[in-house]
Amino acid sequence: MTKSAYLMELEDRYGAHNYHPLPVVIDRARGVYMWDVEGKRYLDFLSAYSAVNQGHCHQLIVDVLKKQAEKLTLTSRAFYNSSLGEFEKYITEYFGYDKVLPMNTGVEAVETAVKLARRWAYAVKGIKDKKAKIIVPENNFHGRTLMAISASTDPSSYAGFGPYVPNFIQIPYNDLKALDEALNDKDVCAFMVEPIQGEAGVVVPDENYLAKAKYLCEKAGVLFIADEVQTGLARTGKMLACDWEDVRPDILILGKALSGGTLPVSAVLCDDPVMLNIKPGEHGSTYGGNPLACKVAMAALQVIKDENLEYNAFYLGKYFRQELSKIKSPLIKEIRGKGLLNAIVLNTQSETAGWDLCMKFMENGLLAKPTHHFIIRLAPPLVITKSQIDDSVAIISKCIKEFKD
Ligand code: PLP
Repeated sequence: MTKSAYLMELEDRYGAHNYHPLPVVIDRARGVYMWDVEGKRYLDFLSAYSAVNQGHCHQLIVDVLKKQAEKLTLTSRAFYNSSLGEFEKYITEYFGYDKVLPMNTGVEAVETAVKLARRWAYAVKGIKDKKAKIIVPENNFHGRTLMAISASTDPSSYAGFGPYVPNFIQIPYNDLKALDEALNDKDVCAFMVEPIQGEAGVVVPDENYLAKAKYLCEKAGVLFIADEVQTGLARTGKMLACDWEDVRPDILILGKALSGGTLPVSAVLCDDPVMLNIKPGEHGSTYGGNPLACKVAMAALQVIKDENLEYNAFYLGKYFRQELSKIKSPLIKEIRGKGLLNAIVLNTQSETAGWDLCMKFMENGLLAKPTHHFIIRLAPPLVITKSQIDDSVAIISKCIKEFKD
């Protein structure tokens, strides 16, 4: 039995079966490369769902992590700590908001944003208790808690887990007319949207969708919440995907790459009139705002600026799509994306084509994962170089050309 086979069997035997991973066991990683336990090298085209924008084990982030881990890791919020205020100042200035509320995972930040919006609905907007509604587009993905799956329209997320959190209004994505109509409901307090729908298959809305949606929300006195957990932090070629349309969300949700893939760190940013409606003792998390996370997040954000990852994602993303579009194959229906958040949509009836193609990529040294059975997301760490993109396109091209649907 190979070492990989043994380790996969361990997971299968002792772990919950809530994921369906590719059969590869990663042991170490650096930059855009990962190595399996047998020592085979792969180009990472998933980046842990965009958590590793800065590249695996970025030296500066790891150094900060190690240094702080020796000094102070967790106090809880029962006491002040010597890193939190510094982080709060840093991140609010970085993104231009009055306040931040730090959490851990992306979905916790989403929950936080929804609680903030509901609280604002009652404390400021004057919506009657328990009546507040939030509009969400169909095919959204905000994580796996009961609140997040209650907003979902994907049965594989929500089915069999009811009863659900009420008062989400679901409308089609990229449909301003539907949004305008839904905003007529006076109990609506927020519209929560992914600027590009990542899990739905890298669905990029029409140009100006976000700007017009923001305008409609403003007109209706409704908060615009941007879930930038996957699209934020330079992934799409701008610091935030909302920056493409000069939209400043009322509530901004960040996660994933906020720690460069080292710890779960997420954050919600907004201004005082929204944030200050939550009072001491009304929301929090034992680990949220812990000193280790604070230091790591500052380093992770600094790396994005220092290494100009926005520009790299913008420039190499364009180049990547241009090179992919040269692959002539009936299997390719569409290549889409922004920056280095891209997808190949396959022209297939097969339920397994996406998986089978990813298996072929894997055999050839590139790791990607299908989202749905016919879309393959391609999202490498943003530190990737032009020649590494060339290597990747060569693998992708070879696999697609040899692929038998
Ligand atoms: N929001 C978006 C847009 C996401 O893509 C994800 C995860 O993929 C989440 C929220 C949830 O993040 P986490 O898995 O860290 O809870």
